[in-house]
Amino acid sequence: MEIEAAREVRTTCPYCGVGCGVLAKVAADGQVSVRGDPDHPANFGRLCSKGSALAETIDLDGRLLYPEIHGRRAGWDEALDLVASTFSQTIAEHGRDAVAFYVSGQLLTEDYYVANKLMKGFVGSANIDTNSRLCMASSVAGHRRAFGSDTVPGNYEDLELADLIVLVGSNLAWCHPVLYRRIAAAREKRPEMKIVLVDPRRTMTSDIADMHLVIAPDGDVALFTGLLAYLGQHNALDRAYITAHTTGFGQALFAASALDLAAVAAATGLSEDELDRFYSLFAATSKTVTVYSQGVNQSSSGTDKVNAIINCHLATGRIGSPGAGPFSVTGQPNAMGGREVGGMANMLAAHMEIENPEHRDRVQRFWTAPAIAERPGLKAVEMFQAVADGRIKALWIMATNPVDSMPDADAVEAAIKACPFVVVSDVLARTDTVRHAHVRLPAAAWGEKDGTVTNSERRISRQRAFLDLPGEARPDWQIVAEVGKRMGFAEAFSYASPSEVFAEHAALSGFENDGARDFDIGAYAGVDGEGYERLAPFQWPTPSPATPLWPAGHLPLKGGDQLSPPLSPIANVAEQAPSAKLPISPLEGEMAGRPEGGGWAQPIRFFADGNFYTPDRKARFIAIRPAVETRTSQDYPLILNTGRIRDHWHTMTRTGKSPRLSQHIAEPFVEIHPADAQRFGIGDADIARVSSPRGDVLVRALVTARQRQGSLFAPMHWTDQFAAKGRLDALTAPLTDPVSGQPALKHVAARIEKF
Ligand code: SF4
Repeated sequence: MEIEAAREVRTTCPYCGVGCGVLAKVAADGQVSVRGDPDHPANFGRLCSKGSALAETIDLDGRLLYPEIHGRRAGWDEALDLVASTFSQTIAEHGRDAVAFYVSGQLLTEDYYVANKLMKGFVGSANIDTNSRLCMASSVAGHRRAFGSDTVPGNYEDLELADLIVLVGSNLAWCHPVLYRRIAAAREKRPEMKIVLVDPRRTMTSDIADMHLVIAPDGDVALFTGLLAYLGQHNALDRAYITAHTTGFGQALFAASALDLAAVAAATGLSEDELDRFYSLFAATSKTVTVYSQGVNQSSSGTDKVNAIINCHLATGRIGSPGAGPFSVTGQPNAMGGREVGGMANMLAAHMEIENPEHRDRVQRFWTAPAIAERPGLKAVEMFQAVADGRIKALWIMATNPVDSMPDADAVEAAIKACPFVVVSDVLARTDTVRHAHVRLPAAAWGEKDGTVTNSERRISRQRAFLDLPGEARPDWQIVAEVGKRMGFAEAFSYASPSEVFAEHAALSGFENDGARDFDIGAYAGVDGEGYERLAPFQWPTPSPATPLWPAGHLPLKGGDQLSPPLSPIANVAEQAPSAKLPISPLEGEMAGRPEGGGWAQPIRFFADGNFYTPDRKARFIAIRPAVETRTSQDYPLILNTGRIRDHWHTMTRTGKSPRLSQHIAEPFVEIHPADAQRFGIGDADIARVSSPRGDVLVRALVTARQRQGSLFAPMHWTDQFAAKGRLDALTAPLTDPVSGQPALKHVAARIEKF
């Protein structure tokens, strides 16, 4: 009998937006182990606890392995025919906007591209939105308002080069652990580097901060508007930059000047002394990076928060240079890739705009599409409201679990249950969403599919398959393409491989692109299967010369027998100290190998030349007046802030499989300040009921001064599958930012009582 040799494959972690490279090894006996890829420029060999435990999450327990129609096993042809004919019939009877796709930042770029092409170019509706709407839509909107494009200017190296890092609404230590470790390592080398944390709660990230501004919920607009006024008053502006490269400064400064320091202090809950110390530090430090995440984005003023931050960087000319710039860190592994192919309801592929007739015409001609979408579609919250009121009659949900993760989750579940036709393509057989599907389509999981993802610094990396497809599972791009063919668009959807999809996506990005758009990877339009297989991680815009490739034969790798380090479990939430060390693999950042080709790992920054993507090539200041909104009431006197913990991901469909990850924090909890605990009769470790006008959860109380008085914090991950009455998004409201449509998941009026 022939004994199969061990093989190791370069791939990418499927969790957060850091986008770490992973080496996945399949031993001769089929056992899988993972380690960080020492040659990947995002992580240089490090992995966090979630990434290190990936091998524990790839078993077939609970997998959806065969198509199902109304709960019975069906063949692929029958299921795909039914999906295609029902969508076609619904469009014929009720119009194009009676159908919708709700997709996911878990999809690979190729999956996203094909789904977007089918809906926007062939159905002719823009009713395709993504769970990335819940993650970073406000950053997209803020970028587009300021830069004329959805461009993240900097890269991870800037975080190591900065003299001041301002972390806003980000528990980087838990939510982007490897990036946090890069900053911590840089600070060990340069102790003079300063770090300011802006967050209503004390988190593990606080440990590294020189200054922690315990800001009132949603006080960020006032904080950064006040900073702009301070910069103007203290002669800390870069007037030459403002004049040469921006518009709208006068109006923005005028609006900011309406807010004096006392008003900023009142809106932020910070003392004037704290504000003065932060403002003077920012004003005096040229190399400043402002990193922001969900605490900024998940807000009813999220887009204004983003622009208030960008205003301060434009006013000081701190953008596009080493160690300086605003930096949005995305939550999901491929939120950026989705943006590149127009995965959101208000965007077109290749960063083109639906509202722009020239862009619509260009995309339609490129696709030879019969019916390009002419206006933005429904954003996530609006989409499920349209399902609820019957405007959407056929819905396809891909790789996400909205019954647990959307705000006002009970209403979303009721809407899905009442929808005449629901298709879910997923890896698992029985999530809270899958069980309501009329048609269930088995999708390929991480490790079984090939494609690309883009991380927070615009770096495109390959995910590679190292496992056989189980049962009858198929990759998402192929499932959508098959439905497209059956809807009568055979020529447009006859892809033989994901490399063909990627090549078309790259070609569209370069099509009639004379530099007026930021996203251009057109140099990869000619990539073939071999080139795609050897594709090394690269940042866009494409480096010159293009196409860094791993040497032929790099897969499978030689050796690779080093296993991930064991996790250090923290027994329960009550013992969990903010200073607990993260179990991160110890490899330090020297790259062991180099691929062939140009541009390898050279950091690429946008806007170094001061040219933006607006018609006049100037960045726009946005005039912002902070609005203070009160949502609490006598019945719901507290503000509930929702978020993530270190070792679980989204609704735990993957991380819930690893007992080691569940050892970190074993049950859902709520953090409450001691004064609030006393006021509401809550003792440490009590079971507490947390309620909003929409619903309630039962969670363990953690009484801690880390929590801001008047606020609660609870993690979003638990579902009723993992804890009785643990679905936190049953409490959150469908309240959104008016520009981005992103839900305000961090500011929910709530009350607490002992159970
Ligand atoms: Fe995966 Fe993010 Fe952890 Fe890296 S930091 S291993 S991408 S979860």
